[in-house]
Amino acid sequence: MDLRHSDPDEEFRTELRAWLDINLPMEMRQPEFWRGKSDDERFEVRREWEAGKARAGFAGIVWPEEYGGRGGTATMKAIYDEEMAKANAPSSVNPLGLAFLAPTVMALGTEEQKREIIKPLLHCEVIWCQGFSEPGAGSDLAALSMKAEQHGDEYVLNGQKIWTTNAMQGDKIFTLARTSSPEGGKKHAGISMLLVDMHQPGISARPLKQMTGASEFGEVFYTDATVPVTEILGGEGNGWATAMLLLSFERGSSAISQYTEFHKQWEEVVELAQTLDRDGQPAAKDPVLRQKLAQSLVDLECLKYHSWHVLTQTSQGKDLGFEASMTKMMWSDTFRRVSDTYESVVGLGFQVPDPREDLSLTELSTLAMWSRSCTIWGGSQQVQRTVVAERVLGLPR
Ligand SMILES: Cc1cc2nc3c(=O)[nH]c(=O)nc-3n(C[C@H](O)[C@H](O)[C@H](O)COP(=O)(O)OP(=O)(O)OC[C@H]3O[C@@H](n4cnc5c(N)ncnc54)[C@H](O)[C@@H]3O)c2cc1C
Repeated sequence: MDLRHSDPDEEFRTELRAWLDINLPMEMRQPEFWRGKSDDERFEVRREWEAGKARAGFAGIVWPEEYGGRGGTATMKAIYDEEMAKANAPSSVNPLGLAFLAPTVMALGTEEQKREIIKPLLHCEVIWCQGFSEPGAGSDLAALSMKAEQHGDEYVLNGQKIWTTNAMQGDKIFTLARTSSPEGGKKHAGISMLLVDMHQPGISARPLKQMTGASEFGEVFYTDATVPVTEILGGEGNGWATAMLLLSFERGSSAISQYTEFHKQWEEVVELAQTLDRDGQPAAKDPVLRQKLAQSLVDLECLKYHSWHVLTQTSQGKDLGFEASMTKMMWSDTFRRVSDTYESVVGLGFQVPDPREDLSLTELSTLAMWSRSCTIWGGSQQVQRTVVAERVLGLPR
């Protein structure tokens, strides 16, 4: 494991910090800035800021320059994520496009798709959604039933997707649909990945309210929606292989930015425990709570060194393969445990918004609620454990 960054990597950090000092307004770094704003207003502020960042060359850090990227190293990307987390910069409005779609298009797309998709996505001109999950197909994704029937030079789509992140703000959606019946009952066959325009009469989106009060995801209904037959990524009937490649791009990312974010969260929980009164003394004096706080710190440090290990491996060009499931499990468990410690400090009352705070949840309460979702999306914890057991440890099925 290499615990030092090279001089060019550190120069990049200095350049990025200087840019953030000037271009990330102080008020935007504070939770109060976002309070009282609607989902749409928040989204637009983030979108504008992210587009400016891309114009300044701080986007697509490891992407080749021909796609508008910076052509940097895996370490530069880790530094970039870390500095964004440290500065409390707004999170990306186009995470599905950036993390999943763009690398898949670079690998499998036609020249026209590369030209038309990658740069507009990087500059947030087009917001992409991921339309995989359905009410009857989540962990068992191959059970999906959305149909795409060919009529002349277009497909006609009918069906429903659910849990679609940014459903209300999305411009386009990369979606899985059945373009033919599965051959010989093989449910992975006959699926294609289609690139569908969401601004058409055949598509309607409905928000789903989360327990934080926000509606970051929603349901998407397709009623005779259309897409040209040319708008397929990876070839007709190859949707399963394309989807597996796309999902694998989450791999290789270290968890350094998550460590930075969760450590900040942990520090705030400790501060709260030191100030909050419990039975006439600061909550931090409670021996059981002290143990929990200490255990969270141990978890965090383990996550930090695991992240450095991943970064060292990927910097050396190694493919972590299914071991990447261990990183996902580790960071989501750590996040959950830091959040559970917060619950132990403040009690379950944190779930009720404070009327003195415009009925908004505090930042720590929002994080504690959000942490519940991380062990579900991108493959649930149970499914990841099976992957590690079978594919990494080689245990019998
Ligand atoms: C915040 C958030 C954002 C999301 N964004 C998107 C998005 O943008 N696009 C999209 O397509 N989807 C999205 N999803 C959906 C996500 O991918 C699914 O929720 C996930 O795959 C689980 O599917 P499910 O909800 O249908 O649960 P199910 O698959 O029904 O699972 C229910 C429970 O059963 C367990 N289980 C299921 N199968 C097994 C098994 N074989 N072995 C052991 N346990 C099992 C699971 O672990 C889980 O605890 C999002 C989800 C969340 C929470």
